[in-house]
Amino acid sequence: MTEMAILKDAKTLEEKLAERYVNEVYRIVIKRNPGEKEFHQATREIFDSLIPLFAKYPRYMEQGILERIVEPERTIMFRVPWVDDKGKIRVNRGYRVQYNSAIGPYKGGIRFHPSVNSSIMKFLGFEQIFKNALTGLPIGGGKGGADFDPKGKSEGEIMRFTQSFMTELYRHIGPDIDVPAGDIGVGQREIGYMFGHYKRIKGAFEAGVFTGKNPTFWGSLGRKEATGYGAVYFTREMLRSKGLDLKGMTVIVSGSGNVSIYAIEKAQALGAKVVACSDSNGYIYDEKGLDLATIKQIKEVERKRIREYVNYHPRAKYREGCSGIWAIPCDIAMPCATQNEIDEQSARMLVKNGVKAVVEGANMPCTLEAIDVFINNGVLFGPGKAANAGGVAVSALEMAQNSMRLPWSFEEVDRKLQEIMKRIYRQCINASEEFGYPGNLMIGANISGFRKVADAMIIQGVV
Ligand code: NDP
Repeated sequence: MTEMAILKDAKTLEEKLAERYVNEVYRIVIKRNPGEKEFHQATREIFDSLIPLFAKYPRYMEQGILERIVEPERTIMFRVPWVDDKGKIRVNRGYRVQYNSAIGPYKGGIRFHPSVNSSIMKFLGFEQIFKNALTGLPIGGGKGGADFDPKGKSEGEIMRFTQSFMTELYRHIGPDIDVPAGDIGVGQREIGYMFGHYKRIKGAFEAGVFTGKNPTFWGSLGRKEATGYGAVYFTREMLRSKGLDLKGMTVIVSGSGNVSIYAIEKAQALGAKVVACSDSNGYIYDEKGLDLATIKQIKEVERKRIREYVNYHPRAKYREGCSGIWAIPCDIAMPCATQNEIDEQSARMLVKNGVKAVVEGANMPCTLEAIDVFINNGVLFGPGKAANAGGVAVSALEMAQNSMRLPWSFEEVDRKLQEIMKRIYRQCINASEEFGYPGNLMIGANISGFRKVADAMIIQGVV
């Protein structure tokens, strides 16, 4: 059981008691969820961060909050049968983890990727609870998905699969119950199919049951951009605290999906030079700065591989494999693809090349060992649950607009997003200072997100 090295060695008696408690609960987690390594990793990170909180406020231990919060309120697992273009019957497995509803209806994306399993669903759902609390908006935590691989599937196959997925999921969700959105492999197109099918089954136009909808049927303007833009706004706050500015900085953004594309767009708009991005096959390096219009054309319009970029811009280089991207010298690294894409070795490479800030656009893209490397080397580290919370924050704004039946302009949503990201940053910094780890945004994010939910759970009794 590896504890994170970033916690202080010399501990007070209260901290030792808190540490013993956290380790006991962690042991139960391991025993109850065997082999779920991503889930173990996410709980380890959060549990360790909470030791200073429990030492100062033992009531959270007395109320058994950790034991309760780590157990999902409900997990739904279901068969998703569908017929491919050749007439063959295929079967996938669908999930929805309804993790915590202490401060609002369950809220979290749906992921379609062959790696989806119970461990990945639970790690994402668990993190989502605290991320959602950090936004200051009334949303609980959840996550869902299927081990379906959208790559190489026709439009018709995607639609049939998505409709079959919804044929089961519809009975578990609703605007005041559980509100899904997109994630890896699920964008506006898939949300459109899910919403259409839900509407058909329910016989009612319940706009607030999904977020990330197309704006033609009550999707919020600015939702598509929100996670990437939000991560860059968060980066700006981190840099400001050190008297730095994005202008002129060299940036690497991994992935080339929804989060990456809009992180690149905002970073460029604020004067940074983004030199590399990737997909699951490889990465492109364009020393003079990436041409985003080309990336959008390849990824959003043609849905092709990122290697195509060099056909448009022969000066750029394409390399097979993903981890090599972190060997490119940069000031700011934004992992925006998937979990555990930066390991200890990649982290050391980034540090050696003088990286100033690492900001997680994806969920848990850095391993625990990589985070230790950054923090121990004085690199500014923006944890995903704070840095990428802009997406779910604008989802909550979409829910508000749907309830009012009134849309806001792009500018209004973007202004609110900027305020929210600033507020999240301040909360993290304040908590990091209050609990003796000034500037450690990971500890700050975990403590302040946890506290909000824990306080609500205490007030609501044994739930
Ligand atoms: P997309 O599906 O739009 O894009 C994902 C990108 O990551 C693609 O370029 C994909 O490449 C790449 N990728 C996926 N799996 C791997 C892998 N195993 N190795 C390397 N690259 C991979 O997803 P999003 O942009 O929506 O999500 C990206 C991350 O951000 C996820 O961790 C997600 O949970 C997180 N996130 C997303 C939010 C949102 O609003 N969308 C909100 C908050 C967090 P390829 O095309 O080859 O698969």
